[in-house]
Amino acid sequence: MKSFEAVKHYFNRAADKLELTENMRTLLLTPKREVQVQVAIEMDNGELRTLIGYRVQHDNSRGPMKGGLRFHHEVDLDEVRSLASLMTWKTAVVNIPYGGAKGGIAVDVSKLSTRELERITRKFIDEIHDVIGPDTDIPAPDMGTNAEVMAWIMNQHNKYHGFNPGIVTGKPVEHYGIPGREEATGRGVGILTLKTLGRLGHKPKNTRVAIQGFGNVGSHAAKFLQEADCSVVAISDISGGYYSKEGLDILDALKYANANNRSLEGYSAAKHISNEQLLELDVELLIPAALGGVITSENAPRIKASLIVEAANAPIRPDADDLLTDRGVIILPDILANAGGVTVSYFEWAQNRQFYHWGLDRVRQELEHILSAAFEEVWALSREHDVSLRTAAFMLGISRVGRATVLGGIT
Ligand code: NAD
Repeated sequence: MKSFEAVKHYFNRAADKLELTENMRTLLLTPKREVQVQVAIEMDNGELRTLIGYRVQHDNSRGPMKGGLRFHHEVDLDEVRSLASLMTWKTAVVNIPYGGAKGGIAVDVSKLSTRELERITRKFIDEIHDVIGPDTDIPAPDMGTNAEVMAWIMNQHNKYHGFNPGIVTGKPVEHYGIPGREEATGRGVGILTLKTLGRLGHKPKNTRVAIQGFGNVGSHAAKFLQEADCSVVAISDISGGYYSKEGLDILDALKYANANNRSLEGYSAAKHISNEQLLELDVELLIPAALGGVITSENAPRIKASLIVEAANAPIRPDADDLLTDRGVIILPDILANAGGVTVSYFEWAQNRQFYHWGLDRVRQELEHILSAAFEEVWALSREHDVSLRTAAFMLGISRVGRATVLGGIT
């Protein structure tokens, strides 16, 4: 099943519960606009390279469209379309005034110099600057992009449209960003994980955790959960997994990765395992925080965790989701679990527009407030309708977007 088909599958399951008509389903699922552009650049060695960039704007019935920019060699239009749609439901679940969008370029950033990355980013903005904007569509970081890339986006967009830091979020704090944005998605994953553990009657100190992906989201989630007394026994990145039965020292692993071009390659304080082995470890909690589609019907039967928190977008294939749910595994779905990033992006955008800003304590407090409210609503809906947390989250998101669409007038 392709990525967008998977989102449709979850959407339809919730739409059945909401008794949505076929016409309404088609309206809510169809993206408003899909843009595909040529990104041609000169590489450092003088070679010409032609890449393809995408921006999918899915829905704007609740506000300007919002979504990250992914630079990864597996990016294609179908994936970007599915991620744009997930953003629509995610912003609605946490009830912030945005729609959904996503962008991406199929490129392996690990093989680019900083200058090449900057040229690709600026060229992409040259091609799409007219269709994005602080009132229409606001990009943010995702896999392969970071605060520095966001600063280039702001700078390039401002060349065409004048100074406006609200064009993009996830910017460096020194450059119109907000404290706490970088940690926000991982921190949000941590906050929601503790809430779920509490609801399930698990104590953090008895919870062994395996986390796939040690980038922005995975590393901040690992740090937060270790500080909350969980035992993080395994972490991983593209170089493989690192396991210690007694629990890893996450600060030490972070220090190592920071000094090693953000890679865990060669980290010797733990046993080296594969990314596949990490998913199947004997742990209570599994957090996929890297790529989509890593849990399939093939490996799902071997997964031992009783709770899976989807820090990555769409890490579980629908057939695996069914197998795990039937076995009683609780899954905290991506459209709630990783919504911390877009929530703090919203704070950043609102403050950019008012030339005002909050300190870190206030950002953390408001983040917790918004995520907790969304968690309670999703939890209550899942109990009320006897559905999974995923179906409940989709029901909440779809009903908010559907209502705004109807109230705004469809034709
Ligand atoms: P990142 O680029 O900072 O980190 C990605 C991590 O995954 C790295 O450690 C990388 O080595 C690892 N990785 C890449 N390919 C892998 C593979 N084949 N096997 C194992 N590990 C691999 O990205 P990120 O921002 O941390 O995003 C991770 C996930 O979280 C993505 O699915 C993204 O869509 C989602 N997400 C991110 C944010 C955000 O604010 N950054 C918000 C919501 C959702």
